[in-house]
Amino acid sequence: MATTFIPLFSAKIVNSSLDFMTPLKKVLDSHWYILGDEVKAFEYEFAQYVGVNHCISVANGSEALELALRGLGVQPDDRVVAVANAGFYGSTAIHAVGATPLYVEIDPVTLTLCPKALMAVIDTKPAVIIVTHLYGQLANIEEIVRIAEAAGIPVLEDCAQSHGARRNGKQAGSFGTVACFSFYPTKNLGALGDGGAVVTNDSELASKISQLRQYGWSEKYQVTIPGGRNSRLDELQAAILRIKLPLLDQWNDSRRSIAKRYNEAFAKLDMLLPSSIDVDYVAHLYVVRVKNRAAFAATLKEHCVSTDIHYPIADHDQPGYKAESVSLKETELACQTVISLPCFPGLTDNEVSRVIEAVTAYFSKGE
Ligand SMILES: *Cc1c(COP(=O)(O)O)cnc(C)c1O
Repeated sequence: MATTFIPLFSAKIVNSSLDFMTPLKKVLDSHWYILGDEVKAFEYEFAQYVGVNHCISVANGSEALELALRGLGVQPDDRVVAVANAGFYGSTAIHAVGATPLYVEIDPVTLTLCPKALMAVIDTKPAVIIVTHLYGQLANIEEIVRIAEAAGIPVLEDCAQSHGARRNGKQAGSFGTVACFSFYPTKNLGALGDGGAVVTNDSELASKISQLRQYGWSEKYQVTIPGGRNSRLDELQAAILRIKLPLLDQWNDSRRSIAKRYNEAFAKLDMLLPSSIDVDYVAHLYVVRVKNRAAFAATLKEHCVSTDIHYPIADHDQPGYKAESVSLKETELACQTVISLPCFPGLTDNEVSRVIEAVTAYFSKGE
């Protein structure tokens, strides 16, 4: 029987019911395209949503990370803590400011920064600690912030995969000193192009970052601080994001309910599953760990189920950057075994069943 391939993510399905023409037309009619009312309104609404005082929208999530590091005053030769299993985004920002990544081991259960491993390097005085809430799972951020505060080191939360994740009523992006978001189309809150934001409660830092995103200007043509550039969210994308933001929580609920169905169906199989399906996980990616990943992926492909690997190469093993030899056992093991299954709002019950059948079929072959 010919069946259609189940995609890992579909922007078409997620966006299908939304009216984008009205907000787009409003911007077109305004003839104001950069840093106008839509951007201002989105920044206000997103800061409210996260529960922080300031939001500075920027061109993408990668530049959000870079500008946050610059805003925090990271200097060449500083070292910045990061994990090495999160797709190199943090590393790119660290290299962009001329600093050096200090890779710290992950917790094998949550696949996020391990507080104990952080504790072991804290006396070497890294300049900043980047915490990535990977796959939509909040890290053990409270303990990390406690360790960092005791050492006087700022924490930067990378929330590009965790919009709306919360614990004890506090949202991803409101725990640390500063946080970064991406609105790339596949993210839980995605634009129709690139977009990003930096959020913080620190007014001075907010004003520095808002200067950095526009040439370092304090006012027009007056470059007050170095390291600036052009990194702006445009009015059209802000207008789109304002339509989508009110739907984020219900989309996260529907991602989580798919993850819950998977976790229940896979409970007895020989693989590791997402550690939480509570509100501290927004199921940006549903990632399992299997021993024989290639065979597993091949079986799913036979069943017309898409998979992908987030991420196959640890940051310290990337050929473009020769990190001094580091050995991170749990990180490397994760890179060798993780595989992502389809999980997005609009995936039908029937499709979820088909994914479950494909996975079950693999294990019943006795592999
Ligand atoms: C997507 C992503 C980024 C980068 O965002 P862009 O908008 O694509 O630059 C940064 N960090 C993480 C964890 C991401 O998933």
